[in-house]
Amino acid sequence: MSEDTQTQMISEARASILSEIGDQVTLVAASKRQPDERIEAALQAGQRVYGENRVQEAQSRWETRRAAHSDLELRLIGPLQTNKAEDAVQLFDVIETLDREKLLKALIKAVEKTGASAPDLLIQVNTGDEPQKGGVSVDGLEALLKAARETYPGNVTGLMCIPPAEEPAGPHFALLKKLADQHELSTVSMGMSSDYALAAWLGATHVRVGTALFGARDY
Ligand SMILES: *Cc1c(COP(=O)(O)O)cnc(C)c1O
Repeated sequence: MSEDTQTQMISEARASILSEIGDQVTLVAASKRQPDERIEAALQAGQRVYGENRVQEAQSRWETRRAAHSDLELRLIGPLQTNKAEDAVQLFDVIETLDREKLLKALIKAVEKTGASAPDLLIQVNTGDEPQKGGVSVDGLEALLKAARETYPGNVTGLMCIPPAEEPAGPHFALLKKLADQHELSTVSMGMSSDYALAAWLGATHVRVGTALFGARDY
């Protein structure tokens, strides 16, 4: 595919997604495992908010591009290990996957040690109670949120979820929105390629879209 065709496809896909979600919802481009030329195409199309799953991959993708685009917003949407906290607070504007007190403590320490401005935090909620999945349980949300509000030097702005793949997503989205309202959190990150329109309808402020924007991932 020529570079021009690629740029045009991504630009058209982006326009179509934006028209579906409306202007109250932010499109987070989930750029994991996408080749460089597609990232460049998305940047050219005007996309400025990106979600990354892994700290290291994000560093290599964004450290130089960030210098060229001062208006980028980078969001960590994948699980974070405590030993990557220092790198994460220095790179990301928002960390969407806080899910345990140990990680909260590591983030606080990382902000202190690096002097980075504290990224906004979202708490990931495991709305489907899946044992393998990241996220705090619905029951554990209140305690974690309280600890984060009391101790984190930045803002805790919202909630994020990834519904179980084999279930209808609607009830999970509705639950996440309800929890956010209950706790007076303004940001609700939910919805991916297959269900972003539904998520936007049910109150998402941010949808995280990969393949529907960029095409199938590299590997
Ligand atoms: C990969 C990923 C997405 C995007 O998935 P698509 O199905 O490609 O849109 C969204 N959120 C998270 C947390 C992801 O890991």
